[in-house]
Amino acid sequence: MQTGSQVGSLWEAIAPAGKQFAPLRASIKADVVVVGAGFLGLSTALHAAEGGRDVVLIETHQPGFGASGRNTGFVVPSLKASLGPAEVTRALGEKHADRLLRLVSGSGDTVFNLIRRLNIDCSALQNGWLQPGHSREAEDALQKRLPRLLAAGIKADWLDRKAMLAQTGLPFLHGGIRVLTGGSVNPLAYARGLARAAEAAGVRVFGDSPVISVEKTGNGWRVRTAHGEVVAERVVMTTNALIGNLLPALRASIIPARVFQIATQVMPEDVRQRLLPAMAPVADTRRHTFALRWSPDGRLVTGGMVAPLPGRLALAEKKFRKRLERLVPGLPEVRAEYSWTGVIAGTLDFLPRLMRLEPGLDAVIGCNGRGIALTTSLGREVGMWLAGQVGDDQLTLPVTAPRPVPFSSISGIMPDMILPVWEARDAYEARFR
Ligand SMILES: Cc1cc2nc3c(=O)[nH]c(=O)nc-3n(C[C@H](O)[C@H](O)[C@H](O)COP(=O)(O)OP(=O)(O)OC[C@H]3O[C@@H](n4cnc5c(N)ncnc54)[C@H](O)[C@@H]3O)c2cc1C
Repeated sequence: MQTGSQVGSLWEAIAPAGKQFAPLRASIKADVVVVGAGFLGLSTALHAAEGGRDVVLIETHQPGFGASGRNTGFVVPSLKASLGPAEVTRALGEKHADRLLRLVSGSGDTVFNLIRRLNIDCSALQNGWLQPGHSREAEDALQKRLPRLLAAGIKADWLDRKAMLAQTGLPFLHGGIRVLTGGSVNPLAYARGLARAAEAAGVRVFGDSPVISVEKTGNGWRVRTAHGEVVAERVVMTTNALIGNLLPALRASIIPARVFQIATQVMPEDVRQRLLPAMAPVADTRRHTFALRWSPDGRLVTGGMVAPLPGRLALAEKKFRKRLERLVPGLPEVRAEYSWTGVIAGTLDFLPRLMRLEPGLDAVIGCNGRGIALTTSLGREVGMWLAGQVGDDQLTLPVTAPRPVPFSSISGIMPDMILPVWEARDAYEARFR
């Protein structure tokens, strides 16, 4: 059994080795510095370089160290279940809501086309993503929402309860939506592939180099690490939840939420044929989502949040192992052979932000649990914006000032406090509604 936060991940065990990028040990200049090599930073840097900008990308550890290398690998061309077109329009206004829904609707193809174009070896499967209701009411709400999703360009179809059962093998799920352009990847392999492609496109990538300060200088910015610095006209922060104290206004604008994952033993062939037979990942409409996929090597991967008690990783193993045994008919005794954890940058409305901290210093953050497709697509647009290929007036997200979430210094405990309420409501709805 392997445990731990990064080395314990299944993805680490089965991804092709990544290039080890050397630290920054000089004073250099660039057009743009991108801080943080998750999907957002990698996609931003890659597309800015492809658009002709001289780009430096700096990462505390190695590409994919953060949420990007630790997630479940679902490519989800859709926003969170509670965010239908009406909610997005209320939050962003019609113009930006329309743009965001269009960006999201194309985001599955954006990821898989990029993987094909760059020839990234990451077990990519574009075979749909399933979103069933967890209750009759949730099923009805999804069915009402489908026409608006189709109108926004999302390629999806409706599966009634019987059809959903055939796709999942999970009798407790109701009918729901299949988003045809979704699928799955090995997320760490995808991040490592993007890093190599970014370097090949001319990005100077530095690993093991935490950025310790970002200061204004002349017409630009000085970005310092322990052993070097870069002076550039533009800086884009893509640090997600691992920002630490570097820019307090940025940290104050997000809610960090710790999420745990397990991967089981390799399952017998009969289980593989019965459960998610088309290998399309499933995530239902619970507030604390039930999510399940097959790994490329025949393990079940699932997870979620756990109470903030000592030994959380062991608690997570037990919780999600037992949940699988309870919910999935006919499984052998489940072992968690890999378990790991990562941190999501959440926002109160579950929508991402493009923030201007100061002229020339921007941040893209808050992709919540929808990060693979959304970060890749937003990164592409921001990269093209930096390269002058997308105008200020064409951006999907409004450029906003950072706004602190309430009680921001302790916002990390919010998800833990709300978890029991979510779980109680989910269980009640699944049983009685
Ligand atoms: C357990 C888990 C499961 C998830 N499952 C899914 C899923 O199935 N599908 C999906 O779409 N999304 C999922 N998500 C969400 C998704 O992973 C994230 O939204 C996405 O990876 C965010 O990408 P990012 O580039 O913004 O951030 P990250 O990948 O977190 O990257 C930020 C990077 O910035 C670096 N950094 C921070 N500070 C500094 C500094 N001072 N100097 C230099 N570098 C710095 C960090 O080291 C890190 O590598 C999941 C998240 C988790 C944690």
